[in-house]
Amino acid sequence: MLTQQQLQARVEYISREFFHLPFTDRAVYNNRLRRAAGRFLPATMSLDFSVKLFAGYTEAQRDDVIKHELTHYHLYRMHRGYKHGDADFKALLARVGGTRFAPAPPASDHEFYYVYQCQRCGQKYPRRRRFNTNRYVCSKCRGHLVGVAVVSAAQLQAEGLIG
Ligand SMILES: [Zn+2]
Ligand SMILES: [Zn+2]
Repeated sequence: MLTQQQLQARVEYISREFFHLPFTDRAVYNNRLRRAAGRFLPATMSLDFSVKLFAGYTEAQRDDVIKHELTHYHLYRMHRGYKHGDADFKALLARVGGTRFAPAPPASDHEFYYVYQCQRCGQKYPRRRRFNTNRYVCSKCRGHLVGVAVVSAAQLQAEGLIG
């Protein structure tokens, strides 16, 4: 885990090395950022990063997220297309090798899911809470669901059933 000061230094370093441009604003941890790994705020020109997600990332994953946010930042400063759908954004992100989406943090072995399965098409539904199978049907084929297992989050992630 990087300290706040190390985070700022890392963002400045990646900006110089990969974008050949200085990062002259603030990179800060944001406690409230939980689903997104990072965020660029044009109003303040600051880059926010999720404490929770960064704590579980490898160095390479952190760098990827930093590159993604710096891509928004530098394109905005250059008055170019800085949003996800813009061609400028896609091209610069590919050039610096950043990720399109935030990497999923490693799943915990202590976290469990209830796995339900459709009896007709076999589709699996991992859920954090139990639910009444009489009240829900498969969203693909409307078949009947049954509870089949309690599985750790790490195993579900390995099978690609959760992000
Ligand atoms: Zn983004
Ligand atoms: Zn089904």
